[in-house]
Amino acid sequence: MAKATESFKAVQCEELTRRYGKAIFARLEGVGPLPFSPAWWDERLMGLTMGDEAVKLQLFRFVDVLPQLRSPADVTRHLREYFGAASDRLPAWMRFGLRLLPGRGPFARLLAGAAHFFAERLARKFIAGSNVHEVLGTIAHLRRRSLAVTVDLLGEATITEKEAEESRDEYLELIDGLSREVNAWPTNDQIDRDDHGPLPRVNVSVKLSALYSQFDAIDQEGSSRAVRERLRPILRAARERHVFVNIDMEQYAVKDLTLHVFEQVLDEDEFRDWTDVGIAVQAYLRETASDLERLTEWARRRGAPVWVRLVKGAYWDYETTMAAQAGWPSPVWTHKTETDANYERLTRFLLENRRWLRPAFGSHNIRSLAHVLAAADLLDVAPDGYELQMLYGMAEPVKDVLVALGRRVRVYTPYGELLPGMAYLVRRLLENTANESFLRASFTEHIPADKLLQNPAEVGNG
Ligand SMILES: Cc1cc2nc3c(=O)[nH]c(=O)nc-3n(C[C@H](O)[C@H](O)[C@H](O)COP(=O)(O)OP(=O)(O)OC[C@H]3O[C@@H](n4cnc5c(N)ncnc54)[C@H](O)[C@@H]3O)c2cc1C
Repeated sequence: MAKATESFKAVQCEELTRRYGKAIFARLEGVGPLPFSPAWWDERLMGLTMGDEAVKLQLFRFVDVLPQLRSPADVTRHLREYFGAASDRLPAWMRFGLRLLPGRGPFARLLAGAAHFFAERLARKFIAGSNVHEVLGTIAHLRRRSLAVTVDLLGEATITEKEAEESRDEYLELIDGLSREVNAWPTNDQIDRDDHGPLPRVNVSVKLSALYSQFDAIDQEGSSRAVRERLRPILRAARERHVFVNIDMEQYAVKDLTLHVFEQVLDEDEFRDWTDVGIAVQAYLRETASDLERLTEWARRRGAPVWVRLVKGAYWDYETTMAAQAGWPSPVWTHKTETDANYERLTRFLLENRRWLRPAFGSHNIRSLAHVLAAADLLDVAPDGYELQMLYGMAEPVKDVLVALGRRVRVYTPYGELLPGMAYLVRRLLENTANESFLRASFTEHIPADKLLQNPAEVGNG
């Protein structure tokens, strides 16, 4: 890795990154929701919650618990309890309103109904539907915008074996239901082909913790055996129906186990030559560079490439807190710019090693994305030799700009019931409103493009 990366033309790459970044920002100018449209109200709501950390925390706690609240009295009690804890930060009219909240009667029912309605509306912004039929409608809509998809079944870290078996069965249903329909739709060359030929149109993302209730690195071989047992039918069904399977990356504690299961199952005779598979890796982890070197060697030994989706990592607060509590060194970078700079180093590594690790880049950060485009150009990787991926409901205009620039953009599209979806929803809300978030800096705080496009390796850790 070192030799090829060192020889990389850093100055040229920086110039081209800025050029791409500015071109993307220029195309985004003036794009935004119409005043008073539903999307406009969503933005206002996000803006309101971002204003104060304490209010934000209470709102997200409330959203998290809401699907479990059965009676209007429960809803009122939780509203009072949670927002009461941040009452000194609320405007006077809200504090007054909190005191008047009815515990029972028609107004309480109305209030509970409104709370459920707004939480569901918020969830629907990031969650594509609650069943295969609804998700098919979403896929059709996205494909009309020339956007590819990867579908994720909500729910993670199952508690019982019954739940884990249900997850497996739901994935089998999903693969069958989607492939039956989508494979019969007309081809869109921008998203259905890459530089090697046709790509599976149906693509699913799987969290291994959903497939085994005791998924734990303490018992690596036992966990691997149990997960592979449930994963095999999914991979088999996917291969038969020309469906792509990507394994998501979860918390650091199960990172090595996840990589181990991925490699073990793909080394089995049945799957050894299969290339429509991939895994996510996280740039916020200090270890990811060495993991990728090892993964390249493994793919070379296996003799068939796999895809790698490079993301920054969704559990930064959790990892930081867990390490601090245990008194261990943190596995994640401490400063946002370190993660961003690592993302760019790993971008180059993946592009340079695409013979074995086919690159997919998951980010909404225009600097990170512009760097992908620049590095690919300088390494002579054709625009269809890699793909860009973004989450459903986030950075919509950026997706359209990248499609217009002729790139393949895939949308990570979660679907499922609201209750198992809450952990996912709260992660997305936290991400959108985090102080360090690129989306918040660019779309809400309107920080100038020049500043947002700075090289993270040069910005320092301030
Ligand atoms: C298609 C797709 C699939 C995804 N799949 C996964 C997955 O399998 N596993 C997973 O974990 N995540 C996954 N994610 C989420 C991803 O990890 C990021 O949380 C999200 O994309 C935000 O990163 P960004 O580049 O868009 O935004 P940015 O705002 O540029 O980056 C935010 C990220 O920076 C990092 N960060 C924030 N503060 C600090 C700090 N103080 N120090 C160091 N780093 C910091 C965090 O990783 C945070 O998420 C996926 C994202 C996409 C788009």
